Amino acid sequence: MSEIKLGILGGGQLGSMLSIAAKKMKIRTVIYSDDKDAPAQNFCDEFIFGDYANKDLIYDFIKKVTIITFEFENIPFETLNEINKLKTVLPKPSINRLIQHRLAEKDFVNKLNIRTTRYVSVNKRTDLDSLEDFLPGILKTTTMGYDGKGQFPLRNLNEIDNLNIDFTKEYILEKLVKLKKEISVIITRFGNNKYEIYEPIENNHEDQILRKSKIPAEINKDLIEQSKEWSIQISEELKYIGTLCVEYFIDRNDNLYVNEIAPRVHNSGHLTINAYNVSQFENHVRAVCSLPQIPLKKISNAEMINLIGNQINKYRQNPKLNENQFLFDYLKKEIKDKRKMGHLTTLI
Ligand code: ADP
Ligand code: MG
Repeated sequence: MSEIKLGILGGGQLGSMLSIAAKKMKIRTVIYSDDKDAPAQNFCDEFIFGDYANKDLIYDFIKKVTIITFEFENIPFETLNEINKLKTVLPKPSINRLIQHRLAEKDFVNKLNIRTTRYVSVNKRTDLDSLEDFLPGILKTTTMGYDGKGQFPLRNLNEIDNLNIDFTKEYILEKLVKLKKEISVIITRFGNNKYEIYEPIENNHEDQILRKSKIPAEINKDLIEQSKEWSIQISEELKYIGTLCVEYFIDRNDNLYVNEIAPRVHNSGHLTINAYNVSQFENHVRAVCSLPQIPLKKISNAEMINLIGNQINKYRQNPKLNENQFLFDYLKKEIKDKRKMGHLTTLI
């Protein structure tokens, strides 16, 4: 066993896959989650169930581990910052604060001269009256959104009052991009100009939830280079340590836009477990635990599908797979509509 004990805040499937990767390197993991049924408790060495605001339990957690990371980006900044005073949190909590807030995130990206969708801050209902130019668009809560939650597609101003939008929250309005494709780039940064980067992954969403990812992405060379370059620039600027994902839009004229940044391992990178010599999860553990960097090598092209809601049942009942297929059941207790229950990767 290694001397390192990795603490992970958040206990979803990303925490499970981080724990599995750590175990392979003989690193023990302790997971802290506010969900008593957190699926990652099936994969980590130790599990603590508690609220993120419970100082005593958080303190017990800190004492048990050598270094701390997170698998879930909506952990309150105050919690991460307090923890970081006692034990190093990587990536840095300030990065999380920036990226948690859609407006701050987009301002940051634009300052680097990297294109995003057109956007504007919306703080009250009447702000929208003068923003026709941003329609059709999507109104998004500035914080706490994921898998399309907290988002309202808007075609015209008349629709707004029927949507029951809670204007005590802050929003941004984004102009809709006429999408040709969506891609993501996953990069693990180890230090100044030291990183491992995966090739762009092509993603398909249904109902704003990721359904399918594949490599290679069918895009031209310029887009491959540009998306990788921007991802490197973003991670260097943030002085990021660990695995980061940049989600991109490509419009019908092959313009590239940053959609959002995820300061963590990412659903679209699940295929790296089987398609590369080192997965996004192993790379994250290596980077935050200061372990040696291993040059990335692609093993195979691949396709991953998310098994959402009761789509998992078919595989639970009959787990017969081909040699090139890999099933991951997240072992979530309850099947829910729109809940990611597992995924299937096929090497092609
Ligand atoms: P989440 O935090 O829920 O992942 P995103 O901003 O990534 O939120 O939106 C989820 C999905 O909704 C995107 O992957 C894309 O398919 C669609 N979408 C979001 N914003 C836009 C936009 N401005 N133009 C076109 N499609 C969008
Ligand atoms: Mg997204």
